[in-house]
Amino acid sequence: MSLQVLQNVNLAEYTSWLIGGNAEYFCLPVTMDDLKEAIEYSKRNQLKITILGGGSNILISDAGVKGLTICLKKFSQTTIKTANDNLYIETLSGTSKSELLKIFLKYRVTPALFMAGLPGDVGGGVVMNAGVAENFEPREFMQLVDWIEVIDLDLKIHRIEKSKLKVSYRHTDGWQPHIITKVAMSWPMEGDGGLLQKVKDANLLRLTKQPLDMPSCGSVFKNPEGHKAAQLIDQCGLKGFQIGDAQVSMKHANFIVNLNKATASDTWNVMMHVQKTVLEKKQILLSTEVVRLGEWD
Ligand SMILES: Cc1cc2nc3c(=O)[nH]c(=O)nc-3n(C[C@H](O)[C@H](O)[C@H](O)COP(=O)(O)OP(=O)(O)OC[C@H]3O[C@@H](n4cnc5c(N)ncnc54)[C@H](O)[C@@H]3O)c2cc1C
Repeated sequence: MSLQVLQNVNLAEYTSWLIGGNAEYFCLPVTMDDLKEAIEYSKRNQLKITILGGGSNILISDAGVKGLTICLKKFSQTTIKTANDNLYIETLSGTSKSELLKIFLKYRVTPALFMAGLPGDVGGGVVMNAGVAENFEPREFMQLVDWIEVIDLDLKIHRIEKSKLKVSYRHTDGWQPHIITKVAMSWPMEGDGGLLQKVKDANLLRLTKQPLDMPSCGSVFKNPEGHKAAQLIDQCGLKGFQIGDAQVSMKHANFIVNLNKATASDTWNVMMHVQKTVLEKKQILLSTEVVRLGEWD
C-alpha cells in the first residue's frame, strides 16, 4: 500500500481559519489509485469518510473528525486543450483555483478575473458554487463547468453532465453522496489583452475591502434575497463583536477572523450571536455559507 494513513492529525493547518481539532485518521491522496486505496481503507476499517478540499469554507469542530479525513489538496493534475476558439480544461478536483487563474491568464480569457482572489480547490468550487459579487462574466463557478466525475464507495466512476446537477446560489446538488474527482470546464477564447492589469486591480480592491491578512473563511453568511449580509450585520453594530479570539471583522462585517487562538466553539458562538441579533433587529434569518465538519453537540 503506497498511501499513508496517519492518526490524530491536527486539521487546523488544513483550513484557512486555522481552527479545528484532530482527524482520527487522515490521508493526502495524490493519484486516483491513492484515492481508491483510501476508500478501500475506510471500508475495511468501517470508517466514515470526510472530504477536505482547500479548507477555505469549513469550520472543523474542536472535538475533531471521527473516521477517515481525505484531504484532496495534493490530488491535482490538469490537461488543457484548445479547439473551435474554446479553451477546454479537465482537472482533478484538488487543483487549486489559483492554478486555474494561471491557466486563464496564460490564455487571456476572462474567467481569470472571476478566479482572482478565490481561494480553495476546484472540487470545493463546484460543491459551493463559489461566486463573486462583482458583475464579472462568469461570476459563479458552475458557469464554467461542462461535466464532473465522481467516485462511489464501490470505486465506480460516474460522469455527471452539468444539466443533471442542480445549481443554486453558493450550492450544487446532484453529485452527493460521492466524492468529486474530476471537473471539466470550457470557455470561449476571446483574448483580453488588458486582463493581467484587471486581475491586479481586482486583487487590490479585495485587499481594501476584506481582512486578507487574518485567518478567515471568507463570507460566513449567504446574502439573503435583496440584501447584503455584511450590511445587515454592520447595521446591527456587530463589527468587532468578539468571543475568545473569534471576532466579527472590523473591515468586513461578514468575515469572522481568528485573532490568534480562536476555537471552533468561539467561532460558532459568534456566528449564532450574529444570526440571533440580525433576526431580532432586522427580522431576517441569515443562513450560514460555511460548512461545519466533525463532531458537534
Ligand atoms: C479570504 C477568503 C475569501 C473568500 N472569498 C470567496 C468569494 O468571493 N466567493 C465564494 O463563493 N467563496 C469565497 N470564499 C470561500 C471559499 O473559498 C469557497 O467556498 C471555495 O470554493 C471552497 O473551496 P475549498 O476547496 O476550500 O472547499 P472546502 O472548504 O475544503 O470544502 C467545502 C465543502 O465542500 C466539500 N468538498 C470539497 N471538495 C470536495 C470534493 N472533491 N468532493 C466532495 N466534496 C467536497 C467539503 O466536504 C465541504 O463540505 C472565500 C474564502 C476565504 C478564506
